[in-house]
This record gives sequence, structure tokens and C-alpha cells, in this order.
Amino acid sequence: MAPVPTKTHCPYCSLQCGITLEVSQGDIELAPQSDFPTNRGGLCAKGWTAADLLGHPERLTSPLIRDRRGAELRPASWNEALEWIVAAFGAAQEHHGRDAVGCFGGGGLTNEKAYQLGKFARVALRTSAIDYNGRFCMSSAAAASNRSFGIDRGLPFPLSDIAQADAILLVGSNPAETLPPAMQYFDEGRARGAKHIVVDPRRTATARGAELHLQPVPGTDLALASGILNVVFREGLADQEYIAERTTGCEAVRRAVRLYWPDRVERITGVPESDIVAAARMLASADRAMILTARGAEQHSAGTDTVQAFINLALALGLPGRPSSGFATITGQGNGQGGREHGQKCDQLPGYRKLDDPVARAHIAQVWGINPADLPSSGRSAYEMLSGIGTPGGVRALWVMASNIAVSAPDALHIAAKLRELDFLVVSDIFLSETAALADVVLPTTQWAEESGTMTNLEGRVVLRRAAVAPPREVRGDLDVMADLAKRLGVAGFSADSEEVFNELTRASAGGKADYRGITYERITTESGVFWPCPSESYSGTPRLFVVDFPTPDRRAHFHVVEQRGAVELPDDDFPYYLTTGRVLRQYQSGTQTRRVASLVEGEPEPVAEIHPMLAQRLGIRTGDKIVLRTRRGQVVMTARAVDGIRPDTVFAPFHWGGTGSVNRLTNPALDPHSRMPSFKVCAVSVSAAAAPAETAETAETAGT
Ligand code: SF4
Repeated sequence: MAPVPTKTHCPYCSLQCGITLEVSQGDIELAPQSDFPTNRGGLCAKGWTAADLLGHPERLTSPLIRDRRGAELRPASWNEALEWIVAAFGAAQEHHGRDAVGCFGGGGLTNEKAYQLGKFARVALRTSAIDYNGRFCMSSAAAASNRSFGIDRGLPFPLSDIAQADAILLVGSNPAETLPPAMQYFDEGRARGAKHIVVDPRRTATARGAELHLQPVPGTDLALASGILNVVFREGLADQEYIAERTTGCEAVRRAVRLYWPDRVERITGVPESDIVAAARMLASADRAMILTARGAEQHSAGTDTVQAFINLALALGLPGRPSSGFATITGQGNGQGGREHGQKCDQLPGYRKLDDPVARAHIAQVWGINPADLPSSGRSAYEMLSGIGTPGGVRALWVMASNIAVSAPDALHIAAKLRELDFLVVSDIFLSETAALADVVLPTTQWAEESGTMTNLEGRVVLRRAAVAPPREVRGDLDVMADLAKRLGVAGFSADSEEVFNELTRASAGGKADYRGITYERITTESGVFWPCPSESYSGTPRLFVVDFPTPDRRAHFHVVEQRGAVELPDDDFPYYLTTGRVLRQYQSGTQTRRVASLVEGEPEPVAEIHPMLAQRLGIRTGDKIVLRTRRGQVVMTARAVDGIRPDTVFAPFHWGGTGSVNRLTNPALDPHSRMPSFKVCAVSVSAAAAPAETAETAETAGT
């Protein structure tokens, strides 16, 4: 009898493309699901090659222990590794208090793991020190959406609505490279005559297909949004009826954006006045229009206010809640949505509840069987927790789960040094990432196709990733490890079974903003996922939010006045250009997985920095030359590529590589005051041709000290 293919989902990004895995006599055949609604048969290069991660020769297959600092990691038994963790956590808490032990999660963890990690920190360790790498990803979008709409769901409508929109303003997003199967919806719209406007300092593959490409100076998107809104108000293009019936705060914003007249905004952003006016008219004249933002707008020290400026524009045009219209943010990581809902954020409890809300504390404490007073208070955000290592009250022992912070954190050299200052570091991962290589104990964990668990995609659709193959013999799942560790710490109530944990998560989420109460494994097995909120099993889920009202106390969406602040660090004589960072087609996040897939490495073997041909000529640099990028935090060596689609004052570098090609050695950790998002997308940089190869290596190593 032929084997039955297992329906599951890609291990990488937030699209969570549906795939099937067929395992036969040791061979694994991967194919796209033609009927899954987000990818409809499409996959990108990463998805097609995802099976290469299974059975990979570099896979971690047993726990590793470093007997003393400076010693090599050696294989160990699970018992030895877990006993060591219990002893190290105990010693840290005994000598330095409960908050001396921290947990650091990831936006790639399943909902069950993210939920269980939050519970493990608060119940088993009773520490406030927990946050996750989604702080570096979606936090500004979340803060602005919560402030205006009372809820944070990336897309408040199904992805397929994009095809029906007549005009789209896409800000700081390059789905042609980051979410290729999603382009079918953009392409469908364009084929119907829809007008797309792309805001990006680079002429990306996505921007090349747009009707209008706006290339603002990095860090000036807020001014651009306010300039477009100025035109909307001045030309009488605002939807007054919608504003009156469904919003508050418009008048103050209308007054504030009077200062953003188009020729002033042209001087701030570099975007021609005529394009600002054209964008406003294009959006306002469309029957159905959308504004979509992503990391390009959000990863700034003013990221929350920048997203807010685009929300203000969307509200003035009357978009949120209208058919095939609205405002949305595009999530990046595989479970970037679910990972930010169920308690691995430092100020959060499951169901998108706040840790400082007495009602929320009482509810969660009841589900967890503890006294509400025993729940810790809010902790520090990701960068603050990591940079606080070695300071009074800082974390002394840290458990990092599925996050490669030595590469992905801003000012990465500083963070790597902080990790070395810890008394004890334990890392759970599938490969020996740059962060795992610094650990005292490394725990090998199951990966996507070896375990079942739920993910919530960029639309808020909860889907089930199913196990299709057995893990290596000595590899254990994170839920299993958390349950074992909790038991060794003398704490009951931690299941290793993903469905049991999910059912507990749904009870914990009940009544919260991200309410999963009506979602079961059985439902998402038979349906193409269920959209939250879904408060009961008889409820079909909520594909579209805001159709009737907004989940704010007054049921209205809120305008907020925001002002252009500019980047914290601007070019000067020493560092004369803007540096911006991003992703490329064949790599993913910190590259722990994709840098180990041969065909992806073949297509994108090393980090390549893009500079404008005029700048290249001025500096005597040609495509293929090695160049040195320097900022106030460090320097890296990359290969140069001259591309005429980038602003002449801007350098772009991808962030998927570690070591001497790690661009996050350069990025600025200045934090957004609302979201605590670092300023990944803009800092000041110098560029020079690298010296001879021997000196290049030396320069790079110096950067690593
Ligand atoms: Fe996987 Fe994302 Fe590519 Fe789809 S778009 S195949 S989910 S990496």
C-alpha cells in the first residue's frame, strides 16, 4: 500500500505554506499543498528544500556539556545535562534572587512551546525575566495596533483579500523575496489593474512591479505618511462619515499634519512632492485600498509612531473594517503571530493579557493552579534583559530556546560578550548555532516535521504542524524537556503532550483578546486552520476583524498625534552613509537552518552589501570587491554589489550571517520607547574598500573582539 502523505506546514516564515511529506523507505518527498489557502500550490526555495533539514549531518543528536569555561563541549546524557541545569538555576536564584534566572524564547516556537515557556518561567522558576526574539520583529507593529485598534493581529483579513484591493501602499516590505507565494495575490490584483505603491529605500523585486516606488531616506517613513495624510485632508479626500462614526482623535491629527506639507516632506524624506500627492490620490480614489507595513517601517527607535502614522492615514481614508480594504502589518517569523500572544513577552500572560492586570492574573493563576500573588511582575524587554547581564539585578543564568541572539540581536558583539559574562547559559536548538556554541549546556530539540504543534500564521489562522518522521533517538521535544525540568524543580502541572498543552492554552486564552477557546486539534485537522478570536467550538472563527466595531473600550479606532523624530544616529563626517538591513530570498533569519542547506547556500553563499554605482565609483569599489563597513559599534567585511536601485546615500546588508559577516555587529540598539524595538533599520556607517586578503581577515577578526 502506498504511504499516505502527511499534511503539514513549512518550518520557516509566517505564511506557513501548506506542504505534504511522504516518507518511503527512508526517502522524504516534499510537495506543496495545492489546496492550502495561503500558498495555493506555491513554495519558495526555502520551502522546497525544507526536508534537507531532516537527517542533516550537522544535526545535534545528544546533549552537550562544557565542563569548564574554555573547555570543548562534550556529549552528555540527558540526566547529567538536566541535573546540571537544575543545579545552576538553583545556585543563581539562591545567591541572586529569582530574577537571576532568565528565559529567552523565539517567534518560531509552536504556540504550545511559547505558552509553556511563559508558564515555566512564571510557575517553575517564578522569575520575571522572560522575553523573546519577536521583540526584535513585531513589537512596534503590535504596540501601534493595540493603541489604535485595541488588538494586534497582523492581517485582520485573509491574505487572499489582497487580490481584491484596487490600491495598496506597501511600506518596508519585500514579499517577492520574503514571502514569494504571497505574490500571487499581489500579481492577481495588478493583473486586474490595481495600483501598488511601494515604500523602500531599495528598488526591490517587489518595488519593480509597482506603479509608484517611493524611496525615502531611512528613518523618515513617519514624515512620508504624514505628508500623504496632509494631502488627503487638504484635498478633501478623507472619509468624513467613517471618521465621525468609527474613530476618535482625528481633529488633533488633522491639525498636527498641517506641518507636513508636501514640499517640506520632500526635503525630509527625499521623496518628490509630486509622488507624495500622487500616492494620496491613488489611495483615495480606489474603491478598496490597503496599507500594509512591515519591518522596514517598524524596526526603528520611532517604530511604533511610524506605524501609527500609517494607521492614521488608513483611518482618514476609512479603510479598516471595509471589504478588501484596511490596515495590516506583515508578520515575519513562522509563529511571529502566535508567539506574541501566549505569554513569552516580559509583560504578558496567555490570551494577549497583561501581566499587570489583576483580573488577568487571577484568571491565569486559576488555570495554572497557583495563587495570583505568586505570579511575578513584568520583566525587562529582550535587549534590556540581555544588555543587563552582569549588572546589579541582571540575569546570571539564561535558557535560550530556538533563538540565535548572538547573530540576531542588535550590537551583536556586545550581546555575545554579555552571554559570555553569564554564570550559566543553556541553549535548546537543532544545530550548534553561534549562540549554542557559547553555551555551557546545549539541548538537542525536535524540529518541525518530527513533532506536532500549532502555529498561527500572519493572518491569525491557527494551523496544525503534524509530525511525519521520528526524531533522532537522543533528541527530545521542548515540551518534554520543560516537563522534565519542572518535575526536577519540584513543580507539577507541565505536560509533554502538545495537544494537552494546547487544550490548556485555549482555557488560559478564554476571554482574552487572542481567544482560542473554540479551537481544537480536531478542527484544525479538518479545516484549513481557524482564525482567532474563536471563543467557542460552535463559532466559525474570525477571518475579518473590525467589520462592525473595534475592540477598544469605546468600540472606535483611535487616531494619535505622532511627530517625525528622525533616526537616533545620523550620518556625519566619520560615518557618512545610512546602513539599513534586511532579508534575501534564500536565507532565513539568523541563518541557523538555511546556511546549512546546500542549494540555498549555493544561491546565496555569503552576505553581499548593496551600494549605489555612484558611491561605488567614488570609493573605487567594484561589484565583487571586499568592503569594510564600520559603525560606532564594530566593523564587518562583506562583498560589494553595485545596484542602481538603491539610494546613493544608503547601504543595504542582509542579516542572515554570523561571524565577521554579521551585520548586527553594526546595528544600533537604541530602543523605541513604546515597544522596546531596537533601531535595526537605520544607523550611520562608513564604507571603504578592504585591504589585501590577509589584512581583510585581520580587520574582520579585530571587529570580533
Ligand atoms: Fe516556507 Fe515562507 Fe517560503 Fe512559504 S514563503 S515556503 S512558509 S519560507
